[in-house]
Amino acid sequence: MSPRVSSLRLTASGRRQRSHYPFSAQTNIGRQRTINEDSILALPPLFAVADGLGGHEAGEVASALAIDTLRDHAPRAVDTPALVRAVQAANNAIIKGIEAGIGHDGMGCTMTALMVEAGKASIAQVGDSRAYLLRGRQLTQITEDHSVVAAMLRSGHITSEEARVHPQRSVITRALGSDPELIVDRFEIDVLRGDRLLICSDGLTSMVDDEHITTILNARSDPHQAALDLIAAANKAGGTDNISVIVIDIDEDQPQSRTHRRSRLWLWILIWIVLVAGLIAAVAFGVSRYTRSAAYLDVGRNGLVTVNQGVPGSILGFSLTYASEESTITVADLTAADQSAVRARPTYPSLDKARRDLESMARRAKSFSGQDPGTPGMPESTP
Ligand code: MN
Repeated sequence: MSPRVSSLRLTASGRRQRSHYPFSAQTNIGRQRTINEDSILALPPLFAVADGLGGHEAGEVASALAIDTLRDHAPRAVDTPALVRAVQAANNAIIKGIEAGIGHDGMGCTMTALMVEAGKASIAQVGDSRAYLLRGRQLTQITEDHSVVAAMLRSGHITSEEARVHPQRSVITRALGSDPELIVDRFEIDVLRGDRLLICSDGLTSMVDDEHITTILNARSDPHQAALDLIAAANKAGGTDNISVIVIDIDEDQPQSRTHRRSRLWLWILIWIVLVAGLIAAVAFGVSRYTRSAAYLDVGRNGLVTVNQGVPGSILGFSLTYASEESTITVADLTAADQSAVRARPTYPSLDKARRDLESMARRAKSFSGQDPGTPGMPESTP
């Protein structure tokens, strides 16, 4: 008889969701329990396993409450202290839940919460669920169990094989839901392309030893298939507990984090600012060059014709006249046609051409009136 697969709500697989790593998250009731007290979360870059304690109608309430609270309080990007605070918030939610009559007194859960993004992983840990790193086909346990047998193992009283099958193996020394001053273990690691992360509940590790887990993880390149094979191995070995498994493959060296994308956006904005500023400067330079070489005729306040460097008018309040020279020619002495031409402020490509045109106007006025209106020219500049 095959074990019942738990509800779809609790399982997820992801392949290239935005910039995140491919993963598979699965939870399974096992072969001997009537309910699944494990809760899992796969919301990249956040992943978590919580194993409920306290029996029917308590363990599953505690683990679900812890996962919901973690999801609501977790940071948006990899941030170990913030992740630890989110696990502490989950702890407080269970304590308050017990006070409010939710679930049963004594309910609690383990929590292994992991955030991984842009080559960095943060882990917050309470209890005996675990995080492992598979690198170069070698499996390393990142977290330390908060359990009686783990303490016995550390002090050298038992071997790791004895610990795995010890009758007190499920007695944990730290869990969410009892101590408001709960201490949360924290781990930070750099992850490399080709690494594989595993988060699991003790339903896997009490049934399948690390060597067998390593073999399965190395045999299956697809994280979904690897997760299913780990659950199948735990069930084949007895499936006495609920089994939760999350496999995450680090398949890129530095996938872009939100922060990277934001900084790249700023880079593009900066590039545009520089380009637009450059364009404005080029236009201003062109306008300046053109207006400085241009010239126009005008009439001064004393009625004398002026020869001006630049063009008539202004741009944004800046006058485009760079120099003004007063001639000795009075506008009233010019022919009627030339007078209206001068009053229209005619422009020329150069000062020289403006002066020559004024000279011909003076000659026309002289031949028209028979009088000498004076020598055209620019004897002096006015500031
Ligand atoms: Mn368990």
